[in-house]
Amino acid sequence: MSSAAYDPNNIFAKILRGEIPAHRVYEDDAVVAFMDVMPQSTGHTLVVPKTPSRNLLDAAPATFAKLFSAVQKVARAAQQAFDADGIVISQFNEAAAGQTVFHLHVHIVPRFEGVAPKG
Ligand code: ADP
Repeated sequence: MSSAAYDPNNIFAKILRGEIPAHRVYEDDAVVAFMDVMPQSTGHTLVVPKTPSRNLLDAAPATFAKLFSAVQKVARAAQQAFDADGIVISQFNEAAAGQTVFHLHVHIVPRFEGVAPKG
């Protein structure tokens, strides 16, 4: 498995630094959440911790309390805002598992009865 180092020039690090735009929907001291540019469904949102790690495998355990607390907040908000029937939470680790942006992030994907997800 890849053990590559964290690259501070990944696209989410640039979003966190404000170097490229994103549609931000939530921020606290530990995370930023923004809309996915290629949404799998209406309301697909990403929650990204501000601390640098490639993915779950190299993250400090202290990251997860605030990260998943924010994931719950944003998932509840997305459920209400988009009137979702359900919410998928997903998170990929390394290219072989489908990860394409190498800064830890959690997908919040609203699902709707009778509507198949894209991609
Ligand atoms: P995958 O691409 O297989 O979903 P990841 O878990 O690494 O793997 O997800 C990266 C996500 O980041 C994708 O859903 C992609 O659409 C999204 N994305 C890429 N660039 C941007 C961007 N500039 N702003 C918002 N979302 C982005």
